[in-house]
Amino acid sequence: MIIIIAMESYEENFINERPDGLCKMCGKCCRTAINRKYTYKELRLMAFKGNEYAKEFLKIFIPYKSLEEAQSAAPDVVEKILEELNENEILREEVTFYKCKYLLDNNMCSIYEERPSICVHYPQNAWTITPPGCGYETWSYMKQEEYKEKVRKAKEEYLELQLMKRKTKDEIVLKKISSVENKINNTIHKFSEYGSSNW
Ligand code: SF4
Ligand code: SF4
Repeated sequence: MIIIIAMESYEENFINERPDGLCKMCGKCCRTAINRKYTYKELRLMAFKGNEYAKEFLKIFIPYKSLEEAQSAAPDVVEKILEELNENEILREEVTFYKCKYLLDNNMCSIYEERPSICVHYPQNAWTITPPGCGYETWSYMKQEEYKEKVRKAKEEYLELQLMKRKTKDEIVLKKISSVENKINNTIHKFSEYGSSNW
């Protein structure tokens, strides 16, 4: 499970649009979570300073003692996560895997009604690395492609605006173009952590 703390509006849309009933209750995301944004040490420090997100995360997740221990708990999930992180040049030594202390042997959540928001919102965005066979895998992939297409269109529009700019000296038109440029840049920037500059 990848937890992204900052909720961009597209992430809120992602959660709102997410279809019900895709979860197969396999428990894999509860058994093998990671945090791409913060190390365990950072999370502990944040929690100590009162950060609510870190407190919520550490309230349920405890780190595996080693990569090998995580691999023995869920080899396929660990392998998939490491492969995807490797594509983003994140080293396996840098990754801490966590398991939830509230997951029961039958893969049910023992605090389901009171589970924290990071669980309710899982997967939180289209780039959350879901375990193999997770019910959200295909849908998340489709959403990724949808967002990529939006960014590509935005880039095309940006190029068209550059041509328009060359053809006019009208201050009002230039101001409007500048405003649209800003919107386009914001759209591209929203996805920058997922590689939008290369789409
Ligand atoms: S891995 Fe996916 S299908 Fe399995 S419990 Fe988590 S969200 Fe549900
Ligand atoms: S609290 Fe429940 S839903 Fe959340 S990770 Fe733990 S077992 Fe899974």
